[in-house]
Amino acid sequence: MTCRTIILNYDEATAPEREAGLEKAAAIIRRGGLVAFPTETVYGLGADALNPEAVGQIFTVKGRPADNPLIVHVADLDQAAASTTGWDDRAERLAAAFWPGPLTLVLPRADGFPDITTAGLSTVGLRLPGHPVARALISQAERPIAAPSANLSGGPSPTRAEHVIADLNDKVPMIITAGDCRVGIESTVLDLTLETPEILRPGFVTAGVIFEKTGIRVTMDPALNTARQNYAESGWKPKAPGMKYRHYAPKAEVIVVRGPAERIGPEMKRLCQIETAAGKQVVEWRLNELSPEKAAFELFDRLRRADLEGADIILAGTVSQTDGDLSFAVMNRLLKSAGYHVIDL
Ligand code: AMP
Ligand code: MG
Repeated sequence: MTCRTIILNYDEATAPEREAGLEKAAAIIRRGGLVAFPTETVYGLGADALNPEAVGQIFTVKGRPADNPLIVHVADLDQAAASTTGWDDRAERLAAAFWPGPLTLVLPRADGFPDITTAGLSTVGLRLPGHPVARALISQAERPIAAPSANLSGGPSPTRAEHVIADLNDKVPMIITAGDCRVGIESTVLDLTLETPEILRPGFVTAGVIFEKTGIRVTMDPALNTARQNYAESGWKPKAPGMKYRHYAPKAEVIVVRGPAERIGPEMKRLCQIETAAGKQVVEWRLNELSPEKAAFELFDRLRRADLEGADIILAGTVSQTDGDLSFAVMNRLLKSAGYHVIDL
């Protein structure tokens, strides 16, 4: 599918250009087209969540498996509550504490959502994003917007304007860019249909912060701590269907070198010498030397840049992480990009 893409660079546009651009984008969504837009986590590829044909185009353009549900983005609490039959006190408290922001709440879906949006599930993932452009687009479209990450399925999620343009130019009618995404990894997905809510996908909003701000205790989906090599073929059925796919994979082979900080450097040097002698182009990352915020912000861009630079192998040094903090969320993405190829020291 090819078409001419209108690109609105929101940061550099004048006020009238912004206004006209957002109006145009909202009109495209209303008539069933796709618009890529910035959020604070990663760029999203949006369509009218209530229009099955429009949502179908998201799957086609991305090459996304049909059993991977989309997150539905809303502009306000009323729209959120109208999108589920289960808006309750817990949802209200979580929304008050974290919305607008990088937290997705999984709740029973309201009538009216087509099966394709939720991949046939009886639940819907809802999020009120924090990015002002995302919020303006959703409210002007006057309907909830289903939006996965604005990349081709399987590759690293887009966190910078050039990532979206590289993946989607000439494939969608409109792309709105607004610089780099502040968080850099996708939203935390929290299943609220259980008595004790469960984090299905770790993100910037951690279990600790949820408890601190709301007093609500949440657990981690035990599947998050299981390495899956052939998840798509294994018959494994995680609660967040997207978690079973090979994801974020660059062309380069990613090898995670994990262990105590003092052993990472020497081991990476040793591996680098071996691979370089074998004629491979090797990139070395000391993620263990970055703050988790910076690692989250940079990870997807690093993966894409390594490919552009023609790397054959990425050696990613990290310290061991078993708890549920932000490093755990970064590690979740990194392990997937590596296809769970880990050298534990
Ligand atoms: P993406 O849009 O690519 O960030 O992927 C959305 C993620 O949210 C995937 O991992 C989905 O499996 C998960 N998700 C969305 N809706 C639901 C839902 N109703 N139940 C469980 N997980 C969901
Ligand atoms: Mg995605």
